Amino acid sequence: MAKVSVGLRGWRFDEEDIFTGDEELKPLDEIPDGPRERLVRLVGLVEEPCDVCYLEHGEAEIQRCNQAEIVYGEPKGEVLLCPEHEPDLLYWFREEGGSEHAGSLEFGDRFHEWVAAGNEAPEGYAPVEHVEEDPDGLPDLPDQQDVQERVEQDFEGDRIDILELAGESDDKQGDTEDKLSEDDLDDVDLSTDYPSNQ
Ligand SMILES: [Zn+2]
Repeated sequence: MAKVSVGLRGWRFDEEDIFTGDEELKPLDEIPDGPRERLVRLVGLVEEPCDVCYLEHGEAEIQRCNQAEIVYGEPKGEVLLCPEHEPDLLYWFREEGGSEHAGSLEFGDRFHEWVAAGNEAPEGYAPVEHVEEDPDGLPDLPDQQDVQERVEQDFEGDRIDILELAGESDDKQGDTEDKLSEDDLDDVDLSTDYPSNQ
């Protein structure tokens, strides 16, 4: 199954999860949850600045930041990078314990803390070698504009209500937490760590 990136390099999708046989982007409600979450997230990320640039220059000088071209991590815990700063993430990931946070929503925060503490990859640290997919095996990808329009179109058409989506996932998390606290945490006093309504 061919893997493809959309919009930003980094997150990879199984081609058949997101494209129809005609190489069109599928309607969102036909895309499996995980890829759909990343796809929807991507639409909000494509015009964002590189995180490391942003940490360097800040909001006041945001025009000096490079636009992100690469995304690593989990949706909502991701790291956005320009090619110039990709080695920092790779170095942190490989040499500074960053890989421990793979798959975690804290991935982004931990990396940002590392950068904010003044760390960076050593001069000349080798960037990743990007494996080129077999061009014959790839569909013609829609460009980001197409993807964005499609996603927005689907939202406007009420095929998927993004607020409902967000609410659903919140509910699921809530359910899990409820179950955990009821079944597993009866003896644990959470009141010191969590705000309580009671
Ligand atoms: Zn940058």
